[in-house]
Amino acid sequence: IDPGRPLLEIKGLAKSFGGIKAVNRIDLDVMPGAIVAIIGPNGSGKTTFFNLITGLIRPDGGHVLLAGEDVTGLKPHRIADKGIARTFQNLRLFPHMTLLENALVGAHTRTSTGAVGAVLRLPRVKREEAAARARALEIIRIFGNRLMPRLQHLAFSLSYANRRRLEIARALVSEPMLLLLDEPTAGMNPTETLELADQIRQLRQRGVTILLIEHKLDVVNEIADKVIVLDHGEKIAEGTPKQVHSNKEVLRAYLGR
Ligand code: ADP
Repeated sequence: IDPGRPLLEIKGLAKSFGGIKAVNRIDLDVMPGAIVAIIGPNGSGKTTFFNLITGLIRPDGGHVLLAGEDVTGLKPHRIADKGIARTFQNLRLFPHMTLLENALVGAHTRTSTGAVGAVLRLPRVKREEAAARARALEIIRIFGNRLMPRLQHLAFSLSYANRRRLEIARALVSEPMLLLLDEPTAGMNPTETLELADQIRQLRQRGVTILLIEHKLDVVNEIADKVIVLDHGEKIAEGTPKQVHSNKEVLRAYLGR
């Protein structure tokens, strides 16, 4: 990765549904190690923007470059292999698997041996499994005593906040270059929100670059290096949290003032 070049470059990304321009020719650069927040009212195109970047939806136009490589329109698993991981607003855990097993799902994009190797339990497979487990534990430890005492708990039995933490952990276990978080603090109380904001900021030290959708402006102020504001599919403002909050158009569109 070239530290002087954006890790993620989005150029003129566009997607319409029928007559609605859900994402209208958006440009965005995300530098390596940055935390960039996307804010905007409901229906402004935030989720569609994430879905375009991660390959769930193919764009009508524009490009997505990761570390200089054009990944536009690739299938989601190919984009995941390139190093983009994401979480979903509606969590996508396996409810009847344990916390640790859910986290290990994130490791499978990184192991080289397929099902045959796993059945034969080749030495290489065992080594890879042990390495994946160690990595998963190291990442779960980021969430400290929230998750560590519950490794064998089934996902459905975890609190909502812990399920959100687990979903982030699972995404991190794949060792992404870029992590997309869709409203990570949704449904969390103020204490949990502050704690998670702090943990997200710490991820920077692991070399992860973060793009997040976040409604809570105090979280955005706290952790984002840069904010973009979407409204009706258009990027109406971009800058530091401070710059964006004093922007009149933003106040009108987003805060209704
Ligand atoms: P946000 O995440 O900011 O709430 P979305 O990206 O979900 O916004 O939606 C942006 C616009 O695109 C909205 O007008 C929404 O109704 C429309 N839209 C999103 N997904 C679809 C879809 N699959 N089919 C039709 N319209 C869609």
